[in-house]
Amino acid sequence: MSDNNSDRNAAQSGDAPPAAPPRAAGPGPETVIRPEVLAMRAYQVADSSGMVKLDAMENPYRLPTELRQALGERLAEVAINRYPVPSYAQLRCALRAGFGVPDGYDVVVGNGSDELIAMLTLVTARPGAVVLSPWPSFVMYEMGARLAGSRFVGVPLRADFTLDAAAMLAAIRAERPALVFIAYPNNPTGNCYETAAIEAIIAAAPGLVVIDEAYQPFALDTWMDRLPEFPNLAVLRTVSKLGMAGLRIGYLSAAAPWLAELEKVRPPYNIGALNEAGAIFALEHLEVFEAQAAALRAARGALARDLSAMPGIEVFPSRANFLLIRVADGPATAAGLRERGVLVRDVGKMHPLLGNCLRLTVSDERENAALLAALRDTQRALGA
Ligand code: PMP
Repeated sequence: MSDNNSDRNAAQSGDAPPAAPPRAAGPGPETVIRPEVLAMRAYQVADSSGMVKLDAMENPYRLPTELRQALGERLAEVAINRYPVPSYAQLRCALRAGFGVPDGYDVVVGNGSDELIAMLTLVTARPGAVVLSPWPSFVMYEMGARLAGSRFVGVPLRADFTLDAAAMLAAIRAERPALVFIAYPNNPTGNCYETAAIEAIIAAAPGLVVIDEAYQPFALDTWMDRLPEFPNLAVLRTVSKLGMAGLRIGYLSAAAPWLAELEKVRPPYNIGALNEAGAIFALEHLEVFEAQAAALRAARGALARDLSAMPGIEVFPSRANFLLIRVADGPATAAGLRERGVLVRDVGKMHPLLGNCLRLTVSDERENAALLAALRDTQRALGA
């Protein structure tokens, strides 16, 4: 277990829900809450206390000690009696400079890219609006669309998880989507789609195409520098996977008129002053995070080779900081790993194409070795 996890777990250990008091008479939520919300389940996060946590694509590395010290000093200067400056001008400037936003382009900041996904679905939710994405992909695209009252259309990937460009173009013609989400690389499959297919989708789309580059530090390819070529392209990013998941900062760049509309629905103080200051500090030391991402890219190759060498495991090519694998029995393997202290994501039930698939975060040497050992042991116990 990394010290990162022990900090988190210390915070979670007092997290048991309080016993429900007897309910007073009068209207309950079912009288006013929208039926689609009543029918939903809250986003599930598995309890990771004491586990090797490989289920959420976090960066396992922490800041070096001297930078942590300096961060503490920087945060101590923040005036937490004041609201943050709602334009977040300094943070936007640091994001533009650090992450290659083209000249003349700006960003809208979100409390994680999750919030930007919610904002995008909200502003496009005219009556009858459609949100479309290759599928399976990141669940929040569907969730955001449903919560906004739009219809979600998932266009199945091929069995090898490549993009079915003809099906995408046919769906765009038929559905006229207000929004198209393309995760690049895709979660949970880990691959990037062909450039020519994405170009054709952008050209055919009657609305905004959002390329979600949450895993860009591990793919290196980007559409960011191509923004000026396409009036209806937006690039969505997050600093979460780079090693700042706790800061909850996402950003989106697109042509100015799109950003102006999104600014209207952004809650004015959506990023806390400490998070903003922490991100500005971190961006001054971007090379530390880039070196960590490079180590994880190297570890990804080594882990993929070790997994491929194990009998009965199919490893899919990945450009992200996770690997998708297929085993003989996904649920039993995930349960066996959990019993051995390793938490991974069982994605088998997400979509028929993902049967018996597990998603594993690529981590440091020690955690990757723990995963491999637990997997060998589990396979032995399952008689694989
Ligand atoms: N996009 C994709 C494709 C993701 O996989 C995730 C997180 N798993 C996000 C966006 C959200 O990231 P965050 O809210 O941490 O910025």
